[in-house]
Amino acid sequence: MAAKGTITIDQELCKGCELCITFCPEDAIRIADGLNARGVHPAEYVKQHCRACTLCAVMCPEIAIEVYRE
Ligand code: SF4
Ligand code: SF4
Repeated sequence: MAAKGTITIDQELCKGCELCITFCPEDAIRIADGLNARGVHPAEYVKQHCRACTLCAVMCPEIAIEVYRE
């Protein structure tokens, strides 16, 4: 069974490139409705879908994502 996990996304570091969304195999990340201080819609975690594969954190060019195993 795949590991369960959770992530945090620093929305102020996020530049909205959507790479994390493209690479997440669980559709666990989406674009937020609101804007951050950079004026972009940041990524946000969709709870309970993550399996801690770490792909999103590896792909993020801003190092805005941290992954935790549960
Ligand atoms: S660690 Fe993997 S499953 Fe979890 S949000 Fe990131 S890409 Fe998706
Ligand atoms: S990969 Fe990083 S910078 Fe790009 S949307 Fe995801 S969290 Fe934001």
